[in-house]
Amino acid sequence: MSHTPAPASSDNESKESKVVSNFIRHIIDEDIKNNKNDGKVLTRFPPEPNGYLHIGHAKSICLNFGLARDYNGVCNLRFDDTNPEKEDVEYVDSIMEDVRWLGFEWAGEPKYASNYFQQLYDYAVELIKMGKAYVCSLSPEEARQYRGSLTEPGKNSPYREQSVEENLALFERMKQGEFEEGEKVLRAKIDMASPNINMRDPVIYRIRKVEHHQTGNEWCIYPMYDYTHCLSDAIEGITHSLCTLEFEDHRPLYDWVLDQLQTPCHPQQIEFARLNLNYTITSKRKLKQLVDENHVHGWDDPRLPTISGLRRRGYTPASLRDFSDRIGVTKVDGVVDMSTLEFCIREDLEHTAPRAMCVIDPLKVVIESFAEDQVEELSAPRHPKDESMGRRALKMTRVIYIDRSDFEEVPPPKYKRLTIDKEVRLRNSYVIKCHSVIKDDDGNIIELRCTHDPDTLGKKPEGRKVKGVIHWVSESYSVPAEVRLYDRLFSVENPDTAARDHEDEDSHFLDFLNPDSLIVKTDARAEMSLADTQPGDHYQFEREGYFTTDPDSTKDKLVFNRTVGLRDSWAKIGGKN
Ligand code: ATP
Ligand code: MG
Repeated sequence: MSHTPAPASSDNESKESKVVSNFIRHIIDEDIKNNKNDGKVLTRFPPEPNGYLHIGHAKSICLNFGLARDYNGVCNLRFDDTNPEKEDVEYVDSIMEDVRWLGFEWAGEPKYASNYFQQLYDYAVELIKMGKAYVCSLSPEEARQYRGSLTEPGKNSPYREQSVEENLALFERMKQGEFEEGEKVLRAKIDMASPNINMRDPVIYRIRKVEHHQTGNEWCIYPMYDYTHCLSDAIEGITHSLCTLEFEDHRPLYDWVLDQLQTPCHPQQIEFARLNLNYTITSKRKLKQLVDENHVHGWDDPRLPTISGLRRRGYTPASLRDFSDRIGVTKVDGVVDMSTLEFCIREDLEHTAPRAMCVIDPLKVVIESFAEDQVEELSAPRHPKDESMGRRALKMTRVIYIDRSDFEEVPPPKYKRLTIDKEVRLRNSYVIKCHSVIKDDDGNIIELRCTHDPDTLGKKPEGRKVKGVIHWVSESYSVPAEVRLYDRLFSVENPDTAARDHEDEDSHFLDFLNPDSLIVKTDARAEMSLADTQPGDHYQFEREGYFTTDPDSTKDKLVFNRTVGLRDSWAKIGGKN
């Protein structure tokens, strides 16, 4: 069986489905050759519903669902919900939305580790009966002391040799709620002298007297992640269980649990490097802190690397899948440059986003050669290279707006935009010339007086060169807009390690929030063709960058988010340091 998909028809499709091989695909190819797992591929994406998904999860989603797609297998969505106090259905819902939005569909109903609580409990009883698990009554502090360290072996718990009957009775009483949290735990009986601390009789059940978002108050003992994960994989018949490198040291435990019990199968755990992205953070806990402490406006704040934030920022599913393909899958941890992600969205929107004009910081311009009530119908292509997108109507009038930054009274050398007594072309319209400047009492420029050359519509001016082109909107035929200019959330490459001498080690990343990560422009004006834009629409605002319509938009005031500028501005100004 080959995993190379059939050649796709259009350019975009073929770009997307080009399969780049990696070490995981090599393992699967080999497994299929040897008819392991009957040649089947069943993967899973196993988020814990304790926060919104981020760009790192997108990598894992594209990997797991992508493998299932390419090998004619399936991928399960499984909520790893063993920490009831940190989890919530809000997160469950957002995760499902995000996976679907990325363009993937899981097999059957979404699964929950909590679906298997009874089975996991039965397996635990079996381990006890085999003498492979025991109820330990050491206090958490004592247990820490007994565990040893990286250089010293641990010591056996005094409860390690309790009889099977005693353990069964105590475990049953734990389940009945007879003990307090922390009073007792169930531990696997493995090896307190193991060089791998994960194998030193790890806790597999603990008491938590809290309600669970799926099972309510049915349980007061909850299985630990390591114990739950391998068994859930086995119960579902997963063939390849992909996780990030930090779980490499947990693999012996994964295998130990499955080796002891008569599970339906023994999935193979394979670790790959997690995605780290500079200028941002990809830890759900820290993202939650940013949200909870109002450093950003919610989980879908366009500055966050959450999938919902990226969506609101204007990233497309195709751009995130492309990104995931480009960064690849390896065994080596590294940091991916934010500009790679930005490159991917520019690549996508360059081809797909219609062009429009929006003046973000308007300066009034009166074209004196136009009559008060003169309206001239113009039109412009929606895309310079894709005629199939059609054209849009523009109206030229006596009063227009240009961007404040496109006029200089005292221009620097080689200035190509508008200045006194010089000409500039209005994009998709005429060449104009500025004659005078009107200022307010404080000396601020409030208006420009210009004339137009009527012989320059769609053709070059006679006998002279006009190099500059600027964008504009008509005063009467444009709509008010708020433009949110987003930039990177942090001003340093690695906010986690930028300073190590902070009092609160864990919060020092907050010191590096970029104060200019959001600049709101409330007086912008967009060309009238944008009047009925819908949230999620994408545009290239000519000369400004890529923008998307925000859900906060109303009929009276459109709201646009800057997805990314036209060029990588960080590369020039020392994004690398
Ligand atoms: P976080 O550290 O942000 O809380 P997590 O690993 O605890 O992430 P989970 O919900 O357990 O979050 O992750 C679900 C899946 O996504 C896991 O298989 C995990 O390995 C994978 N994953 C999480 N973060 C990344 C990342 N940065 N790069 C690649 N895969 C990731
Ligand atoms: Mg996790």
